[in-house]
Amino acid sequence: MEKEFYQMWENVLKNIETSLNNPRSFELCIKPIKLIDINDNIVKIEIPNPSFERSFFPFVKILKEEFQKVFGFLPEIEITYASANYDENKENSLFELSLNPEYTFENFVVGPCNRLAHAASVAVSQTPGVAYNPLFLYGGVGLGKTHLMQAIGHYVREKSKSKIFYIPAEYFVNEFISAIKNKTTHIFRNKFRNLDYLLIDDIHFIAGKEGTQEEFFHTFNFLYNNRKQIVLSSDKPPKEIKFLEKRLVSRFEWGLVVDLQVPDLETRVAIVKKKCELRKIFLNDELVFYLAEKVKDNIRLIEGVLNSLVANYTLLNRSIDKSLIDENIEKLYNLKKEEKKFINLKKIVDVVCEYFGLTPEEIKSDKRVRNIILPRQIGMYLGREMTQSSLNSIALEFMVKDHTTVLHAYKKIKQLIEKDRNLKNIIDFLKEKLNEQ
Ligand code: ADP
Ligand code: MG
Repeated sequence: MEKEFYQMWENVLKNIETSLNNPRSFELCIKPIKLIDINDNIVKIEIPNPSFERSFFPFVKILKEEFQKVFGFLPEIEITYASANYDENKENSLFELSLNPEYTFENFVVGPCNRLAHAASVAVSQTPGVAYNPLFLYGGVGLGKTHLMQAIGHYVREKSKSKIFYIPAEYFVNEFISAIKNKTTHIFRNKFRNLDYLLIDDIHFIAGKEGTQEEFFHTFNFLYNNRKQIVLSSDKPPKEIKFLEKRLVSRFEWGLVVDLQVPDLETRVAIVKKKCELRKIFLNDELVFYLAEKVKDNIRLIEGVLNSLVANYTLLNRSIDKSLIDENIEKLYNLKKEEKKFINLKKIVDVVCEYFGLTPEEIKSDKRVRNIILPRQIGMYLGREMTQSSLNSIALEFMVKDHTTVLHAYKKIKQLIEKDRNLKNIIDFLKEKLNEQ
């Protein structure tokens, strides 16, 4: 095969990466593909193993299209596997990539705030589908939900042959949308029904998304009826998740709903020590206490502070003391505030598009169909309500004629929500989404 084909292949992948605009899907589903040979219009590629086919399948269409753009012809794809003696029970490429090696039970500090959540997680790892099904973990940001879920993942993978899948709900939604677009929902369905464990993180992310909720409802029933273990996490208990269908709320409450609370000082001290140990940094007891005392409500912040301490220490040669700790805490808190405050038009476009299943190109196109016009007007309304942007810059962002179009949209939506409860709910939901990002 010509040498330059490899370079051209790299270009194909790069173009896919750009047009997908979804780093995670790209990492997981496209990047592992290798070019082996091109012969006439037959392109031989190598993928890691047979089960990878399922993850890569939704992207075949885009692969062919991008290939055609670079090579000038529409290829036929022939697949080979990297390892011939691959054991499907042991592996699941998607799953493997998405677990953080640090998030194990060994590294999880148990205290009064999380004892029950921890015990239930251990229990479902050992005996799936029996006692607590589903297991629903909830609690504020950075209190260890993801850590516990992934610990279940590590445990099951090491100790049993069960098929287990950990996936953030956001990714579940994206996969589902692309399965619909590519007409591969049957593959999507099989992927999720063929499991012994399904772990979905941040399940509140499916709220307000009708199609995904419907699909998840059926997946849930299928797994549940077959006594497969389901574990879910969320920032709130099921009842309090807005825009979540009632039938899902009630199912989420069938098993055990358990919360993670803010850890007390002793637990925080133990967590700081554990994290220092993992990062091989030494803090004396006084500093450990000092840090644990200062960072109360979010353990992720402890981690952030430790990481920047390490950076200060190793890169800048600064010795670690209280003032350095203070400095870093303040930096991180300010960063968080900034992130919260900053709602810009691009973010609005993203959130509105995601909600209505549109792409930014679509919402900015001049198509005059209702399912695009309304979202576009909602976007402009939110732009006026939630940012300091001028009418002209909103017009530019949404590619409409001029500021009068924006004003018209704003007035129209404002009037509509006074009469239309549904629309008001949607707008409230979008506002909440924007505020929490
Ligand atoms: P959540 O998913 O609830 O937002 P994470 O699971 O991502 O929170 O936890 C945030 C960080 O805090 C992670 O680095 C995690 O390892 C750490 N963490 C949280 N709780 C504990 C704990 N009990 N023991 C050790 N580390 C913890
Ligand atoms: Mg999490």
